[in-house]
Amino acid sequence: MIKNLHNLFFPEFCLACSKYLLDNESEICTSCRHELPTTGFHHIKNNPFEKVFYGRVKIEHATALFFFQKKGSVQQLLHNLKYRGHERIGTLLGKWLGHELSQSDYYNAIDLIIPVPLHKARLRQRGYNQVEKFAQEIAVSLGVQYHSNILIKTSSTSTQVFKKRLERLNSSKASFKVINADILAGKHILLVDDIITTGATIEACANQLFTANFNKNLKISVATMAIAQ
Ligand SMILES: [Zn+2]
Repeated sequence: MIKNLHNLFFPEFCLACSKYLLDNESEICTSCRHELPTTGFHHIKNNPFEKVFYGRVKIEHATALFFFQKKGSVQQLLHNLKYRGHERIGTLLGKWLGHELSQSDYYNAIDLIIPVPLHKARLRQRGYNQVEKFAQEIAVSLGVQYHSNILIKTSSTSTQVFKKRLERLNSSKASFKVINADILAGKHILLVDDIITTGATIEACANQLFTANFNKNLKISVATMAIAQ
């Protein structure tokens, strides 16, 4: 009754399709929950996400929760998460993917979770790293540690807007650094990001982690909210 009244005066909308939510729904409506385009990649070896890194950097396993399509509901979810302050979408998707990873044979050897970092300036602007809650919930589901103080972003993309595109692409490789590298020895890391497009960011992060942990048997897997097709 109270929720009914609350909805009457403050209607809530589905964060993926913008339709009114029913009383028994929260954040994402029932039809979106069934129709969002999940990949199921965490149960498939040599999936298209893993193939992105072939010949570039050694990645053990890689998966995304959803396929990303322009103007689709996944784009709206990510937009609400990144630009409209709906940080709880990260929590929701993290629980969703975390549960699925806990059922997959490929992710039961993960030791710790590292989010792809935001630069400090961007963090101040947005107020949160949109990947943080997502990554934390996956860590809870897998029962492993979460570390946001190992991989650091050192150059802000927003300060580079005046650079030519090519220069920006070249400089992106040098924009991460690793601190507290001792923690990494012998570990299998799950690197977590919001969306994978070309794979350049993950490649840059993985290369920094491998360099910092030279010859100490580091393994890296990857999980994201979405993969662009
Ligand atoms: Zn919906």
